[in-house]
Amino acid sequence: MIKVDQEKCTTCGICVDICPVSAIEISEGVISIDRGSCTLCGVCVSVCPVNAISIKRKAKTEDTSGYKNVWVFTEVASGTLKPVVFELLGKGRELADKLDQKLCAVIIGSGADKFIDELGAYGAELIYMVDDPIYENYSTDAYTSAISQLITEFKPNIFLYGATHVGRDLAPSVASNLGLGLTADCTDLSIEEEDNLLLQTRPAFGGNVMADIICPNTRPQMATVRPNVMEPLAPDENREYEVIERKISIPSRSVRTKILETISGREEHEVGVEEGDCVISGGRGMGSADKFEVLDELAGLLSGVVGCSRPIVELGWIPKSRQVGQSGKTVSPRLYIACGISGAIQHQVGIRNSDIIIAINKDPKAPIFDIADFGVVGDLHQIIPRLIDRLKKR
Ligand SMILES: Cc1cc2nc3c(=O)[nH]c(=O)nc-3n(C[C@H](O)[C@H](O)[C@H](O)COP(=O)(O)OP(=O)(O)OC[C@H]3O[C@@H](n4cnc5c(N)ncnc54)[C@H](O)[C@@H]3O)c2cc1C
Repeated sequence: MIKVDQEKCTTCGICVDICPVSAIEISEGVISIDRGSCTLCGVCVSVCPVNAISIKRKAKTEDTSGYKNVWVFTEVASGTLKPVVFELLGKGRELADKLDQKLCAVIIGSGADKFIDELGAYGAELIYMVDDPIYENYSTDAYTSAISQLITEFKPNIFLYGATHVGRDLAPSVASNLGLGLTADCTDLSIEEEDNLLLQTRPAFGGNVMADIICPNTRPQMATVRPNVMEPLAPDENREYEVIERKISIPSRSVRTKILETISGREEHEVGVEEGDCVISGGRGMGSADKFEVLDELAGLLSGVVGCSRPIVELGWIPKSRQVGQSGKTVSPRLYIACGISGAIQHQVGIRNSDIIIAINKDPKAPIFDIADFGVVGDLHQIIPRLIDRLKKR
């Protein structure tokens, strides 16, 4: 049920302008909602500046049978599609095939049409596109409104987002707006045999168990998925796709944030730890912040990127953006070198998808050796300089 708190309401009219089904009007200084036309999409709730509108939803969705297809949110950054989009399309294809449903991509932006061929090549059969200058930069308000309206109209069964900064902001906002469930930071997804529910797997209890989470009562079943854990399909330009375009105009005054300046946390040329083909990480065994210079030198010789374990971030030696593991980044390089890292389960979950893991540790019983392909038992302060010397002589 939708309600307006008339005492809080200032009759600013934002909800009237934004309602996609024109169910809201102001008459004689009072807001009224036509409950017959209202679809409970929640857009008015999300944009009301004084929180005067609320929706009370039933705890259980009566009928979920009308919800079909697997949707993937398409995130664009610096003019290109984020790699996680292709990974989600790869996993989405598998889920959609299992359910005998369609794989769809949702793209919102300004000039969004330039990405649709690429989305089609990576497996999207149906692409929902919302193209308007208001979506040029990501904003929680505008994107939540647009996605909520698409969900209300097209009723997807599953909706996947990358567990990126944007995905981690948008998915909970949509979930709260529409009263949906959401599993954050999944590391695997599959379909349960009995009820065809989405099994959303993620580490729980400090990474000691992998929990399978289901969402039986609401649709779509929504999950954010860590970058670098799913396999993309090989692109094929001959794959066929269909585009459904929707005009969803959001009044600019309903967007409560404004981008004044964009300051990159990383130099333009710098590669993120999650993107590196070779990642060299240091742990507490490095001993001090200045010792990381030797890892920088090694990374330079191997065209690698320096990462670290969590204590290093807590000590303030390296920024959080370079932390590898459960509460940091998941990496999938061709080569991962762990230097002075014990290999706690929370670190291991972030490096499992590496092709080759080399561990350097003075403790032969360190758990990192359980998952390492090659292990060197010894003092890293002696081993790494020797390795650097060797590489320089190549
Ligand atoms: C909810 C939660 C989330 C977490 N998330 C993360 C995460 O995302 N990433 C993460 O890394 N951790 C995470 N942790 C922390 C994790 O449990 C471990 O505490 C952490 O990974 C240990 O870091 P370390 O291996 O650098 O340090 P230590 O465990 O102290 O290991 C240091 C290692 O260095 C070796 N060593 C010492 N000196 C030398 C030397 N001279 N030469 C060679 N080897 C040497 C030692 O033998 C030892 O094995 C998380 C913990 C929790 C509870």
